[in-house]
Amino acid sequence: MKTQKTNIIKDSINYLKIFVPLSIKAASFLHIGQAISNPLKVSYIKKEKVLGLLENIGFVLGKYPTRKDREKYFTATTIEKLLNELFNPTTEDHTQKIQQVSESIDKHLKQSIKTELFFEKDVSGFYSQEIKTYSYNRNGSCMAGKPRSYFKLYDLINEDEQQVQIVGLKSGGLVVARALLWRDNNTFYLDRIYIADFLQNSSIEQLQTELFLKVKRTYKLDNLNTFNKSHIIEHLKQTHKKRFDLLVEKNKTRDNKIKIYFCIKYAYPTFEIEVDQDNFNNIGHYPFADTFKYVIDTGSSLNFNISSDDDETKYILDCTAGEITNKEKSLECMDCGGSYDEEEDGIYYSELEDNYLCDDCSCYIEERGESCSRDNATYNNYSGDYHYTNDLHN
Ligand SMILES: [Zn+2]
Repeated sequence: MKTQKTNIIKDSINYLKIFVPLSIKAASFLHIGQAISNPLKVSYIKKEKVLGLLENIGFVLGKYPTRKDREKYFTATTIEKLLNELFNPTTEDHTQKIQQVSESIDKHLKQSIKTELFFEKDVSGFYSQEIKTYSYNRNGSCMAGKPRSYFKLYDLINEDEQQVQIVGLKSGGLVVARALLWRDNNTFYLDRIYIADFLQNSSIEQLQTELFLKVKRTYKLDNLNTFNKSHIIEHLKQTHKKRFDLLVEKNKTRDNKIKIYFCIKYAYPTFEIEVDQDNFNNIGHYPFADTFKYVIDTGSSLNFNISSDDDETKYILDCTAGEITNKEKSLECMDCGGSYDEEEDGIYYSELEDNYLCDDCSCYIEERGESCSRDNATYNNYSGDYHYTNDLHN
């Protein structure tokens, strides 16, 4: 497989040589091939470096560099950058040819990407991208690359036992897909699966399904609830269409009801996560959460839940800048239902309504010296004043 990919890169460069003149430095790029650390890149070694290695450490690079040589001494770059170093385009046509070849190699590398499953127990290290064995990609998550302190909550959750870890697919060190995997004894929940941006258009559902199936197999689960339930079921139906249609047909004749089980009961977890209240309060920053976002106060501990019960919810993990929404400190406008921080402007208590109103929903009544809801205000065309509607009927 590997030699085949190497040939495609080499073949493409040879093809380009027919149309575009080489640059003067082209001859010093040796052993161009697919990079090890990031299979979407190419790597090479320069002639000067080979000589330098020989002179300084007595290292002799063989005719066929090993994976280890490539990883240790080679330079990885994008195919586009490399082609622009190798060639010396002088016309618009040259530039276009380089662009075309670079795109087709790029496409080939993406399509032939082979992934393997990984588990990472250090959740905060992974999110903050401090673990250098991975090469991180933009993947649509707003939390990636934030400081480690933002993810302290995960360390707290894992303090006594590992309840959450990162699972993902990687190719070399390149992270292609990843999600949080939650665990409560032998019940698991696979949280939202993020796919690297560069693969967004091609294969989101396919990669989500691949990760789901691999995790399910690893833990030998009959059921694995997952955030991306609908994507995965749709993909399984499409890829096993014949078998699926047959199953539908069979089930129809039996009881005229379609009951096909895809090993995913729910798109949400069936358990809660508990943390100590004091420890929770001592954290400086909080992460944004896709699933366990509502924090419920039970008195002795805080429970992370999936639904917001207005009376019990104390905090919501819905901020991406390290903050947390404190439900107890936020007030709701009686009219629009908008929620406002009591310490900020924009909401106040109306004596007339005996309730909270935001600026947009309130109307100042001159003769009362107070505000009421716009719904309860009547405009006097003659005087140009507003009246509290109840006053007019009394
Ligand atoms: Zn309002």
